Amino acid sequence: MPGTTLEDLVLLFEQVDGAVALTGAGISTESGIPDFRSPGGLYSHIDPMEYLSVTAMYDHPERFWRFFIDVFSPIVDFEPNAGHRALARLEQAGRLVGVITQNIDGLHTKAGSETVIEVHGHLRTVHCTSCEAVAPLTEAAQQVNAGGLPTCPECGGALRPDVVLFGDQLPAIDRALELAQSVELVLVVGSSLSVTPASYLALQSGRRAIINREPTLLDSVSDVVINAPAGETLTALVEALVG
Ligand code: NAD
Repeated sequence: MPGTTLEDLVLLFEQVDGAVALTGAGISTESGIPDFRSPGGLYSHIDPMEYLSVTAMYDHPERFWRFFIDVFSPIVDFEPNAGHRALARLEQAGRLVGVITQNIDGLHTKAGSETVIEVHGHLRTVHCTSCEAVAPLTEAAQQVNAGGLPTCPECGGALRPDVVLFGDQLPAIDRALELAQSVELVLVVGSSLSVTPASYLALQSGRRAIINREPTLLDSVSDVVINAPAGETLTALVEALVG
């Protein structure tokens, strides 16, 4: 049976040589960004393949971009919470080698984490599908809000988000695997672990700990499982490990 207390988690950190955090949408709900799979979340209203896939982007670009900008561009204005800040402090104190995240909100970097691998991409920029030029997402949003499709300022080609869509390769997955394999502990925070690559990444180290509001698929193969809000749990962890 996995340990369930903060003391179990602190002890686990004391036993291992290196740890990495693996975060999902749950670490950002306390910043006000809802996760997708909880009841009432985005995936209960829409079929993601219909709106967030490579096929949707090429076959129905107007609908794709209208939806993308409406749903995702507000996320760039959110701020990190205590959980993001605690992970940044753990990295600064040498207790974490970095963060692998499924999130696209950029909040780990905003909170001060330095090694951040965003396996599903991010919302900071878009790029041209013809010449690879990069532009801020805000520029694409302006074009969409003016009733057009986002086009490249350099060559006029079609722009696309730097978020991984259904049907895309995962450009950062090799770096994420390498980082997860380089440590003895993966600390999962706020992920249901119901999809790859999260579940796969979580299995790369010998030891595992999970902080999540509800049970996950990997609880039975983890050393510690704490079913509690991420912010308060990570804050308590930092206080215990770093002071
Ligand atoms: P998920 O929706 O599958 O799971 C989130 C988990 O976090 C749930 O099990 C939920 O119980 C838990 N949770 C919610 N709030 C919590 C809290 N305060 N403390 C602890 N646990 C909490 O999320 P996922 O596994 O990350 O997958 C969703 C996909 O959607 C990801 O691939 C991600 O790219 C994307 N997404 C990103 C964002 C973002 O960038 N903030 C938001 C929503 C979805």
